[in-house]
Amino acid sequence: MHTQHQYDVLIIGSGAAGLSLALRLPKRARVAVLSKGPVKEGNTWYAQGGISAVIDHKDSLDSHISDTMGAGAGLCNPEAVRHTVEHGPEAVQWLIDLGVSFTRREDEKHEDEFHLTREGGHQHRRVIHAADSTGQAVETSLVEAVRARPNIDLLEQHLAVDLITADRIGRKDNHCLGAYVLDRGKGKIEVFRAKFTVLATGGASKVYLYTSNPDTSTGDGIAMAWRAGCRVANMEFNQFHPTCLYHPRAKSFLITEAVRGEGGKLLLPSGKPFMQRYDPRGELAPRDIVARAIDNEMKRHGYDHVLLDISHKSADFIQKHFPTIYRRCLDLGFDLTREAIPVVPAAHYTCGGVPTDLKGHTDVNNLYVVGESACTGLHGANRMASNSLLECLVFATSAAADISSKLDTTSLPPELPEWDESQVTDSDEEVVVSHNWDELRRFMWDYVGIVRTDKRMERARRRVELLQQEIQDYYGNFRVTSDLLELRNLVQVAELIIRSAQMRKESRGLHYTLDYPEQNNDRPASDTILVPKKHDAGTVHHVAVKNVEQLSIVDN
Ligand SMILES: Cc1cc2nc3c(=O)[nH]c(=O)nc-3n(C[C@H](O)[C@H](O)[C@H](O)COP(=O)(O)OP(=O)(O)OC[C@H]3O[C@@H](n4cnc5c(N)ncnc54)[C@H](O)[C@@H]3O)c2cc1C
Repeated sequence: MHTQHQYDVLIIGSGAAGLSLALRLPKRARVAVLSKGPVKEGNTWYAQGGISAVIDHKDSLDSHISDTMGAGAGLCNPEAVRHTVEHGPEAVQWLIDLGVSFTRREDEKHEDEFHLTREGGHQHRRVIHAADSTGQAVETSLVEAVRARPNIDLLEQHLAVDLITADRIGRKDNHCLGAYVLDRGKGKIEVFRAKFTVLATGGASKVYLYTSNPDTSTGDGIAMAWRAGCRVANMEFNQFHPTCLYHPRAKSFLITEAVRGEGGKLLLPSGKPFMQRYDPRGELAPRDIVARAIDNEMKRHGYDHVLLDISHKSADFIQKHFPTIYRRCLDLGFDLTREAIPVVPAAHYTCGGVPTDLKGHTDVNNLYVVGESACTGLHGANRMASNSLLECLVFATSAAADISSKLDTTSLPPELPEWDESQVTDSDEEVVVSHNWDELRRFMWDYVGIVRTDKRMERARRRVELLQQEIQDYYGNFRVTSDLLELRNLVQVAELIIRSAQMRKESRGLHYTLDYPEQNNDRPASDTILVPKKHDAGTVHHVAVKNVEQLSIVDN
């Protein structure tokens, strides 16, 4: 028998959500934070623009709430929006107290104040930032603080494979008891037992060929929660960021929306502006509108990119406000201070996920989800820029408070069955995994991307079913690798996206289909809920979803 790891709280994911939750727990709690790669690798590290919160006295909570609801196209949960916005200033102050060095104003009269930038959909300047590398500043401070806490074990290169639920030991009480975790260093799958398990694994944008996300975004938490019996919600709402640098060597390099916020113009390669034809807000229209406009112009004219130009601003301003982007572009041969740069849209953010209430509860007892893997109801059909880091911080705080209140009255799970590797052999067929990975991401981009149709989605669905079959054969017989595990999760998430998109017979927020190009206002807006076979309806206590009329049962 191997020794089983044992913790009060097992947190899977070391981004803004997972680390904040760990730090908000009491120091007497024994906590493990897992990261499937290096600790800092995740979406948080790459966040550029900033964190939205009502900080300026001319701004108001109501304005932030109404902007968020406006972007969400009728699907935001008002309770979740208010909860997030009201706790925003405190969450930002917590980061300031932790030592995050946010950018301050330059003018002498106001140099004690933080510089606030403005992004699409926001009526006010309310985005606090650390130049254009806010994520690095936040992640660095969080990691330092976690490393200084002896009660928290930070375990890198530990990839969670699956959650362990009570039925695994013949119980019917629908509790999560921990997880099977691949220690990549040892090449072994080990048992982690915990009173509480938290999924903070980030989004799933790697399901698309072009993405601004790092390789970690394979939807592991969403797929694991689904397999454990949680519903998933609103998976059709995938945000495509309008502006990633277009260059063969610039994999995933995002050009923050703040460049447009500070006056950057989108142009056709001929130098002609086009955004006013799509929306009176021009470059500051919500991201879905800007991404679709670019996609449309590219498809209409056969261009492989459009241009983004901020060279009318002074070189000094550009270098101070966008130092990372300026340097990266210069490395690739573009001088942001003198010329327009080529950009394309790319998959950026997963609005859907595992439905939770305000405390991060899921359909499975003692299992919480926070951050981009969750569907809290904050974003609805479209995320407003810079609301996601805020969501990570606010929901991590309320989930931590809830867990803390139950720590002493919850007992550790008993010894759990080890991972069974008796039937598996080593395989030299890795080519199947890499081929399927490429195929999946390409058909998701072509058929279930920025512009969808019923026919394209049906094609994608047939292909995803084939891939699922192949993975199933492979998974049952060969030793698991991290690539295979991620592919299995990506294919699962792709299926959930396709099915959700097929159920929505209208265009709304980020979901745009040529077959139903208008929003259906004849009936109340409703969320798309997928229910796994393994779902105990009797124990469902909390959901973020607004309206469950559209509930659908899906075989898994
Ligand atoms: C380029 C870019 C720019 C952005 N800019 C902004 C911005 O300016 N403002 C804003 O609000 N939002 C921004 N976002 C979105 C925001 O960064 C993310 O939504 C947020 O950081 C998500 O945090 P998270 O903690 O949920 O996940 P992540 O930060 O992605 O962390 C996920 C963690 O989970 C771990 N993990 C995943 N699967 C497993 C597994 N199976 N086992 C173990 N560990 C696992 C990973 O290793 C990682 O540690 C941006 C995103 C990108 C990609």
